[in-house]
Amino acid sequence: MSSYTIVDETVLEKLRAVCGAENVKADEKTLKAFSHDKVAEEKYAHRPDVAVFPGSTEEVAAIMKLANELRLPVTPRGGGSGLSGGAVPVAGGIVLSLERMNRIIEIDTDNLFAVVEPGVITKELDGELKKHNLFFAGYPMSEEICHLAGNVAENAGGGRAVKYGVTGRYVLGLEVVTPEGLTLNLGGKRVKDVTGYNLISLFTGSEGTLGVFTKLYIKLLPRPKHRLALFGFLPTPLTLNKVLPALLADPEVQPSSIEFMDSLCIESVKQTAPKSDVEITPGGAILVEVDGPTLAQIEAELQRVEQILTAHGVSGIRKAESEDHLEEVWKVRKQVPWALMRIAPHQSLEDISVPVSTIPAMLDEIRDVSSRYDVPIPCFGHAGDGNLHATPLKPEAMSVEVWLETLPKLLSELYVKAAGLGGTISGEHGIGHKRSSYMKLVLGDAERDIMRRIKRAIDPNNIMNPGKILVDED
Ligand SMILES: Cc1cc2nc3c(=O)[nH]c(=O)nc-3n(C[C@H](O)[C@H](O)[C@H](O)COP(=O)(O)OP(=O)(O)OC[C@H]3O[C@@H](n4cnc5c(N)ncnc54)[C@H](O)[C@@H]3O)c2cc1C
Repeated sequence: MSSYTIVDETVLEKLRAVCGAENVKADEKTLKAFSHDKVAEEKYAHRPDVAVFPGSTEEVAAIMKLANELRLPVTPRGGGSGLSGGAVPVAGGIVLSLERMNRIIEIDTDNLFAVVEPGVITKELDGELKKHNLFFAGYPMSEEICHLAGNVAENAGGGRAVKYGVTGRYVLGLEVVTPEGLTLNLGGKRVKDVTGYNLISLFTGSEGTLGVFTKLYIKLLPRPKHRLALFGFLPTPLTLNKVLPALLADPEVQPSSIEFMDSLCIESVKQTAPKSDVEITPGGAILVEVDGPTLAQIEAELQRVEQILTAHGVSGIRKAESEDHLEEVWKVRKQVPWALMRIAPHQSLEDISVPVSTIPAMLDEIRDVSSRYDVPIPCFGHAGDGNLHATPLKPEAMSVEVWLETLPKLLSELYVKAAGLGGTISGEHGIGHKRSSYMKLVLGDAERDIMRRIKRAIDPNNIMNPGKILVDED
C-alpha cells in the first residue's frame, strides 16, 4: 500500500478547523468502535488514527482536499453493518463518519423521490415514507442499523429484491465528493437520463473507494397496500430445483420474497431461542411473500403459491393470514444471522451469487466442502435471487490458529465452485477488505486492470478507502 502521512497534532488541528473540535475524535473508545464492522474475525479489524464527523458537503470537500494534499487515507463510514470490512480503515488515517448528516431533505410526493443526506438510517426513511404510502424497495434486511449511503456504496440487495431489484435501481441522483475534493452533481429527480457516461452506476457499489456520497436522490414506489407470506418445510433442499422455477415462471404469482434456510440454520435459531416452536427438518424451509394493491389479489396469489409448494412436497405450511402475523412468519429467517453469530463467534458469513437454477448444485458443493474440511456450513438466503449466505463456522474442537489457516482454503474452493456454476463471490455484501484477495478467482486480468485504471483516474493518490476491492499485489 502507498505510504501515507501520519496523523499528528498539526493534522488534528487542521481537521478541527474544518469541522469543529467536538467533531474530531481520537479517544480510545471512539477509535475502537470504528475499527471494525460486522465481520466476525478480529484479524479484519484496524484502528483509525482519528474519526471525523462532518456536518455538511462543504466540510466533506474541505476534508478531502486536505487529505489529498497531505496524503491521508480516508474511509467513509455509514452504520458499520457491513459484512466485508468495507468501512474498516485498513491503512489507518481518517474514518469519515457521515452520521451527523442524517436529514431527510425532502419527500417529493409529486415526482416520487426522497432526497436524503447520507447518514439517514434506512428504516427511519421507511417510517417517514409509510406516512405517504410510499416505499424505497431496494433496502437490505439490516435496515434498522444501516445507512442509506452504505446501501448505495454496497449496492445492497435484500429480502424483496426478487421482485423489486437492488438499491442501485432506485438511485437516480447522487452528490459525490471526489478524493480530490471536487463536488459532483450526478442525475437528480429525473427518471430518464443518458447524458454522457453513467457515473451514478459507477459510484453505486464502489464501496467508498471512489468518493463520498453527500446527498442521494432515491426513486420511490407506491407502497404495496397488502403483504402476506407463508413458511413451509422442503422434503429436501434439492426440491428447490423444481420449486424455484415453478414460482418464478408462474404467470399468476410474482413473489416479493423467496427465502431459504437449511436445517442447520433452523437448529441454530432453536438453540439460541429455545421457545421457538419451529421444527427442524432435514430439507430446510422456504418462505414466500407476496404483496400487492388488494387483499383479494394477494390472497389469490398466496393460494397459488401454496398449491405450487404443496405439489412439490412442501409440508407444515404456516400462513400469515394478515399483515399483523407477517413478523411471526419472518421471525425464524430474520433470527438466522444473529443466531449463527451467537453460536460461533468465529465464522464467515458469505453471500455467493449463482444462477437460480444452479442453487441445488451449489448446495451440494457446499455440503461436499463442509464434509471434506469437517467444518459446518449452514446456508440461508435469498433463494429467489440465487444469493446464498453459506456461513462456515469454526468447530468447537478446532483451534483459532487452524481455523484461520483453513478458512481461506475453504473459501477459495467455494468461490471457485460458484464461478464454475456461472456465479460469483458476492451478490450484495461487497468485496471490501475481506474478499479482495479472491477477486482474481472470478475476474480476469483485463477486468481487474480496467477497474484499477478507473480507480487511479479518480483517486490518483490512492487515499480513498485504500486496501479495498483490489489489493496492491494483485
Ligand atoms: C444482520 C445483517 C443482515 C444484513 N442483511 C443484508 C441484506 O439483506 N442485504 C445486503 O445487501 N446487505 C446486508 N447486510 C450487510 C450490510 O448491512 C449492508 O451492506 C449495508 O448496506 C451497509 O450499510 P452501512 O451503512 O452499515 O455501511 P458501512 O458498513 O458503514 O459501510 C459499507 C461501505 O459503504 C461505504 N460508505 C459508507 N458511507 C458512505 C458514503 N457516505 N459515501 C461513500 N461510501 C460510503 C464504506 O466505506 C464501506 O465500504 C446485512 C448485515 C447484517 C449485520
